[in-house]
Parts: sequence; structure tokens; C-alpha cells
Amino acid sequence: MSEQKTHWKKVVSDPNFIGEGDFQEGEEKVLTIDHVVAAETVTTAEGKSKKAVVHWKEPGIKPMILNVARSKNIEKVSGSGYFEDWPGVKIQLYIEHGIKAFGEVVSAVRVRPFKPRIQQQAPIPPCTDCGKEIAPYMGKSAAYMAAYTLKHFEAPLCADCVKKRKAAEQAPAVDSEPPEETDPVAEEFPAADPETGEVL
Ligand SMILES: [Zn+2]
Repeated sequence: MSEQKTHWKKVVSDPNFIGEGDFQEGEEKVLTIDHVVAAETVTTAEGKSKKAVVHWKEPGIKPMILNVARSKNIEKVSGSGYFEDWPGVKIQLYIEHGIKAFGEVVSAVRVRPFKPRIQQQAPIPPCTDCGKEIAPYMGKSAAYMAAYTLKHFEAPLCADCVKKRKAAEQAPAVDSEPPEETDPVAEEFPAADPETGEVL
């Protein structure tokens, strides 16, 4: 997992409903509607009122207040404008920045007007040499390790097997120098995107 950041809005405003603060930068969430409460009494920054509220099947995710834009897009995704038809529908949420509202520029949670398209992360293959699971190594994710070794060794490898291959390449002589203190594998890996493991 990458380092999680805390948006001030997560702490400061409307802590009861999903908002910008619940998203990492650039994150989109795919969530499954459990049910909609058509007139739930909610308390927001504007005070107490009755709103239509979407609750999720996924545990630990704050509910979402419906507005016209969100409702229209859920209708597009689900093919129905009726709350009763929405349970089980998966929708994709994102943050839109720079919306002008009441003289202010704000950010808001939006619903994508199409069925979720976020790709499932490809499963990480086992190490080609030893068959074991490829583990995260020196701050690099397992996905990164697999992608990096595939690129440079033409096979997904665990860190131990990378060391073995390097040792086999570099030490033909039996009486060579004593092993170095530094970790040769750690130095090998350049910076990567911590989310995708993509080599930068
Ligand atoms: Zn291995």
C-alpha cells in the first residue's frame, strides 16, 4: 500500500458523508449501492434537513447524499430512475475540482455517467526461479518488483532470486572478494510509482 494522505476536509467538514477528503489525489472509487433512503434526516454544514441518501454494500464507506447531478448519472448507469432498482448497482465516483457554486469554487464528489471502468489490478505472478510469492522489497511494492524484474530479467523474480542471478553473473571466480555491505538489489531499483508499480 502507498502512503495515505489526510485531506483537511476529511477532518473539518461534513464528516458523516463521503466527500473530497475521503479520496486520495486522483483516486476513483467503485462502490456498490446497498439501498437508498429517500428521506433521511441528515446534519450537514448547512444544518438539519431531509435528503435522499445512498448507502453502500462496502463496509466503512460513508454514505452519499444525492443531488440532481449524481442521481441523473446513477440513472444512466443503472438504467432506472427508481431508487428501488438501484441496490446492487456499481458506480464509479471521482472528485471534480473547480465547480463554481454560490460564488465559490469548490470540489465535489461526482458519479461517472457510465459503468465502472477501473481495471482490476492484475494478479502478481510467482517468482519464476523459486516459485514463491514475490514480496514487497525495500519500499517497492510486489507489483513493482514483478514489473521491474520482468523488464530487466525477462521473468518475474523475488528479491532473493534477483540477488542469486546477480551473484551468478558477477562471481565466476571461486575466490572473489568478500560480499559487500551494501545491498546490490536495493541500489538497482529506480523510483517507481507506488500505486501502479510502474517504473518511472
Ligand atoms: Zn524467487
